[in-house]
Amino acid sequence: MSEKFDIVVTCVRCRQDFEGFNEGQADECAADVRGEVVRGHYGSAVLDMETAFFADGKDHGLPDGQICDACIEHLCAAGLLLRPTQELEEKLRSL
Ligand SMILES: [Zn+2]
Repeated sequence: MSEKFDIVVTCVRCRQDFEGFNEGQADECAADVRGEVVRGHYGSAVLDMETAFFADGKDHGLPDGQICDACIEHLCAAGLLLRPTQELEEKLRSL
């Protein structure tokens, strides 16, 4: 646990600490890994209020928690994380 910031948000993938403006939310680290999906919140530059999907379903090996924008971009570039398409968004809405 870092003591650099009042609120620390640690990325579950790269373990970097970010200064949170809210519990679990920081600039550049404001998305949550939740099972098979990553939910972006306000503050995430790459997944602003969007949901992305792990290509491998639950086998991505990351614990639930916050993930930073750099890691999201890395996972997207590697094809491990699928950005929301209109088709997926519509499917989610119908669930
Ligand atoms: Zn990270």
